[in-house]
Amino acid sequence: MSDKYDLIVIGAGPGGYVAAIRASQLGLRTAIVERETKLGGTCLRVGCIPSKALLESTELFEASRLHFAERGIIAEDVTVDLPKMMKHKEGVIDDLNAGINGLLKKNKVDRFAGHGRLTSNGEMEVISDGHVHKLQAKNFLIATGSVSSSLPGIEPDGELIGTSTEALSWPEIPERLVVIGAGVIGLELGTVWRRLGSEVTVLEYLPRILPGTDTQIATESRKIFERQGLTFRLDTRVTSVTSNGNVCTIEMEGQEPLLCDRVLVSVGRRPCTDNLGLESVGVETDRRGFIQVNSSYQTTTPGIYAIGDVIGGAMLAHKAEEEGIACVERLATGHGHINYGNVPAVIYTSPEIASVGATEDELKEQGTAYRTGRFSFAANGRARAAGHTEGLAKVLADRDTDRVLGVHIIGTHAGELIAEAAVAMEFGASSEDIARCCHAHPTLAEAVKEAALAVDRRAIHS
Ligand code: NAD
Repeated sequence: MSDKYDLIVIGAGPGGYVAAIRASQLGLRTAIVERETKLGGTCLRVGCIPSKALLESTELFEASRLHFAERGIIAEDVTVDLPKMMKHKEGVIDDLNAGINGLLKKNKVDRFAGHGRLTSNGEMEVISDGHVHKLQAKNFLIATGSVSSSLPGIEPDGELIGTSTEALSWPEIPERLVVIGAGVIGLELGTVWRRLGSEVTVLEYLPRILPGTDTQIATESRKIFERQGLTFRLDTRVTSVTSNGNVCTIEMEGQEPLLCDRVLVSVGRRPCTDNLGLESVGVETDRRGFIQVNSSYQTTTPGIYAIGDVIGGAMLAHKAEEEGIACVERLATGHGHINYGNVPAVIYTSPEIASVGATEDELKEQGTAYRTGRFSFAANGRARAAGHTEGLAKVLADRDTDRVLGVHIIGTHAGELIAEAAVAMEFGASSEDIARCCHAHPTLAEAVKEAALAVDRRAIHS
């Protein structure tokens, strides 16, 4: 049997399923191919959503242990039922998976289950349980995402040595956990297990944590994470990790070996293009394996497009979504847009770390003249009432035009606060524009307003 579509999307992660829905809205006859039983990709199955479920649950646990008493709430002997916490996380995934399934149906996107492989221009195969189903389309969109990568000398075994996928479902709380890589995944999942009682040591190759994050914010965050109990070993190059089934041994350059009960390898992700048939259709990748695309997301083969983690750039679900939408809008209407200078990023630790636009380091490197406004959450009424006084908001504005060039926030709910900055920057706002907008009192958002006021040295509460 053969089906002919206007567009077939390969991969139902946030980039792929959103693109398929938008394509169908625009009148393209659309299908989506996914090999996993559950939709939503890494983000929903083994990434953003399950990690947020565990972060939310463990934050409640930590608050009950450390902060309830000071508010006059007596909750003695609070303990963790790990299987139940994991069940709650799975429930969140199941509900959202059902939601995506419903959205695909509502938008008349046909779904094919199995591994997708491009075979010749205009044709692909979907392989499931040894059966091959051929599909035809005018256009294909590759949205196959990324998978965890490792290092030479480290072979995650899915047991004691795991990647984020396993660390989201460990059946027991490790006494000693070593995290390799002080990036986003290492800090988010390191935080989850630390709150549950693990002694967590984070090994990082670079002399700092969170590479790419504004240095001042990263330095501030390190102090906070250390106070919370994370141990960092910077300038540390891991050379091998082995496990005897009970204990893991970590070898590092110039240091004594480290023993622990579990290891989380979080040293980045690589594009997922295995057995996609790229060579047979002439789709080229760069030397790191990312699919090469032009500004319309077309690969080196006309009619085949790619978006999201598989083409490189920031590995963020919302960046993939925006690319998916821009790609199919261009395909259907000739127009589609994404502003790469204005893609927010959020790290869901406690406090959260959120940013949009240029970091101070980047502005210095570019030689851009800028002014900085900072405001501490310790002087924000709402943050004080909530007992979350750590962190600051920072606004960077062009010295001559006052246009906002970047906003960086470390503090409670920073991930929500950054939306205001992204909207302001998309409209080309100046720091004065933000400062002159009425912000409700008492809210955390007032810290952003005060940081904007501080650019012109006229913050009221500092
Ligand atoms: P990452 O690139 O953020 O961090 C990896 C870290 O490992 C780096 O700091 C690197 O210097 C370090 N490292 C590399 N080799 C090492 C070695 N031999 N020894 C010690 N340290 C070493 O990667 P990640 O945390 O695995 O995340 C993967 C991707 O997923 C990133 O692009 C990230 O942005 C994305 N992600 C985003 C979110 C979010 O937006 N909240 C959450 C999870 C993942």
